[in-house]
Amino acid sequence: MKMKTGLLMVACVILLANNLFGYPERYYIRNDAVTADKWFGTHYHTTGVNDQIMKIGGWGDNYYALFMMPVHLNVPGRKLLHSATLNMYSFGSLRPTSMKKYFVLTPWSETSTTDHWSTQLRTPVSIPVPPVNGAYSIDILDEMFLWLNFPNTNRGIAFIPENNDNRANIFLSSENSRGAQRPYIEIVYEKVPDFKLPLPGGGRYWRCSTAAGGSSTHQLKNYYAIDLSYRHVLESAPTVEINTKTRIPILAAADGIVITNGYTAANGNYVVIDHDKDGKWETGFQTVYLHMTNNSIAVAIGQKVRTGDVLGIIGDTGTGVTGIHVHFQIWFQHLGSIMSNGDNGALNFVRIENRAVSSFVEGTFYKSNNTNYDFD
Ligand SMILES: [Zn+2]
Repeated sequence: MKMKTGLLMVACVILLANNLFGYPERYYIRNDAVTADKWFGTHYHTTGVNDQIMKIGGWGDNYYALFMMPVHLNVPGRKLLHSATLNMYSFGSLRPTSMKKYFVLTPWSETSTTDHWSTQLRTPVSIPVPPVNGAYSIDILDEMFLWLNFPNTNRGIAFIPENNDNRANIFLSSENSRGAQRPYIEIVYEKVPDFKLPLPGGGRYWRCSTAAGGSSTHQLKNYYAIDLSYRHVLESAPTVEINTKTRIPILAAADGIVITNGYTAANGNYVVIDHDKDGKWETGFQTVYLHMTNNSIAVAIGQKVRTGDVLGIIGDTGTGVTGIHVHFQIWFQHLGSIMSNGDNGALNFVRIENRAVSSFVEGTFYKSNNTNYDFD
């Protein structure tokens, strides 16, 4: 059985602002005749590369398709994807067939042979049968997350028919003269705040007393948390541990608004900041600061805060809390992972002081670049 392969590489980014959730913006990635954006290797319909159409399906000939991911994608800064869709235009009179979507696990190029990718595919996902004629959109959010973990390599998406039933899907390619119906990828993303440590800067390094992932209270699919002790050292004297325990201010890790504060037995005195500033747990990022000392909460619900504003004073309030520390927790959307396979995709984009949250190690001191405050 022959395998035919159609390949697409997309480039050229067009930006449209869209402030639905505070940060989100919308990118269209379309083909562009100037850049290298074309089908490769579809030999069936015409004589070589740059076919006008792509075919998936078949009987004796089984037509697969392989899409290159947008290796030229360059969204400024880190980003959290809300959605990613591959949009194609279904065309022709053949009866459409069902097919599955795969993520290609190894890099490849236009000149690769067909077999290199057929054995390097991630667990397939069934996708809807396309229409005979009309717009067709496929969710590729998981694939974009995976691709972003391997930037600038030509991994891609493969489409393989589920049956050899003499049916085929015909899509207009990026070489088709109907420019508006060529494929494109649409990405809606959200900027991730650049969090700072929630304790004073001024050359101070703070001790991580519990790392993320150490227990269920420090990592679930919708949050990471680290504990930061009152213990710290100065850059000028890195071997001298400073054990003052009093009146150390807890600082906002990024701009936002206070969505709640108060006291519970588990949390002690606490403050929650919403960083997309819409006041909702369900959208954007929130940070939570627990165990503040009594009568120290310094911000009111609804109050806007800037990075470095004082929220309260470090303490040990809450049932069973041992040792003076701030439990610093970062949530996304209060719902958890937005990846269908349950990976912690969203929170993997979070950085504190330019570090991945998962890289904080218990017992290590980390520099705060937050606002400097003097304290006793
Ligand atoms: Zn904690």
